[in-house]
Amino acid sequence: MENLMKIDLPGFSEPIRPGKLICIGRNYAEHAKEMQSAIPTEPMIFLKPATSLVGSGGTIVIPTQSQEVHHEVELVVALLKGGKNIPESDALHHIAGYAVGLDMTARDLQGRAKKVGAPWSVAKGFDTFAPIGDFVAANMVPDVQDLFISLKVNGEVRQKGHTADMIFSVVTLVAYASTIFTLEPGDLIYTGTPEGVGAIQKEDVLEAEITSLPTLYVTTE
Ligand code: MG
Repeated sequence: MENLMKIDLPGFSEPIRPGKLICIGRNYAEHAKEMQSAIPTEPMIFLKPATSLVGSGGTIVIPTQSQEVHHEVELVVALLKGGKNIPESDALHHIAGYAVGLDMTARDLQGRAKKVGAPWSVAKGFDTFAPIGDFVAANMVPDVQDLFISLKVNGEVRQKGHTADMIFSVVTLVAYASTIFTLEPGDLIYTGTPEGVGAIQKEDVLEAEITSLPTLYVTTE
């Protein structure tokens, strides 16, 4: 089945299909520790395809290729204006809004890729591996670095964090990403996960929450 999901974004007159999903690895020190990974000295970036998007109320499909799919709850930033080499001081003006997202990860496939130095595209890029909640306009969020972030699986809290604990702030990530990619309106940035990642099973119910943003609900199959 084709996935041509478009997203309603504040500041856009029509739903938009994001051109790229930029994801940040190891952006919370406690998560880097639980993965036994070094704390990065500059943002660590990987990409997901737009076909990995699924909206709130949707279903994460656990692929047959993986026996261990993990949840990673993340704050997601949507770009309003594009640009290249955006200064940090101007980065907030390039942001349309924020949503709760999940960076689903086939941890077994990622582990094998890490061992041989191969890319993470397969482990991170399956269909439905980028659930995304509804967006709130950036100006409705007074301080994006002052938000609680959490994830429940079947009603049990699995992840709990705070955006103040990001190693690289939202404005730093926008500026940094724009030194590599030309950013385009509607591009998304998944800003990394706090600690507490773990496996999901079929028929789980996931509720991802960030202060002042609509809850993201997804089930699994
Ligand atoms: Mg992640």
